[in-house]
Amino acid sequence: MDTQPEEHQGGCYCGAVRYEIRGAPAWSGHCHCRSCQRALGGAFVTWAKVAAEDFTVTSGTIKICEKMPGIRRGFCGDCGTTLTYAAVQEVDGQDWSKDAWFSAATLDDPSIVSPQAHVFVSRQQPWIKLADGLPVFEEF
Ligand SMILES: [Zn+2]
Ligand SMILES: [Zn+2]
Repeated sequence: MDTQPEEHQGGCYCGAVRYEIRGAPAWSGHCHCRSCQRALGGAFVTWAKVAAEDFTVTSGTIKICEKMPGIRRGFCGDCGTTLTYAAVQEVDGQDWSKDAWFSAATLDDPSIVSPQAHVFVSRQQPWIKLADGLPVFEEF
C-alpha cells in the first residue's frame, strides 16, 4: 500500500504564486470575521490548515500584509488573491506557527476540503443564510 501522502496544488488568480500541500487538510472552517471579509472582499473565507512543513510555495512569492501586529495575511502581489493566514504570536495560548493556514478556494481542487464549522458568525452578514448544518461559533 502506498503510504506517501497525496499532494495537492493551488495558487492565486493570475498564476504567479503556486503552492503545494502534502496530505489532506487537518481542519477547515468558514470564517465570517470582519478582517477576513475586508481582506478577501467577500462575505466569508474558507480556511484550511496543514502542518507547516506540509505547505510549500513552488513558484512566485507570497507578499505579507501585517496590519495588526502578529497577524500576517499572505497574498499575491500581482493579483491580490489572499492565500495564507498566520498568527506569529501565541493567540489564546495556542501556538499557531505549527500550522500553515491557506484559503481553501485557491486549491486547484477545493472539493478535497471538508469544512467543519462556521466561526465568527457574530459578524456574519445578514444576507448570508447558512443551511449546511455545520456547528456555528460566535467567535473562534
Ligand atoms: Zn496572482
Ligand atoms: Zn476571519
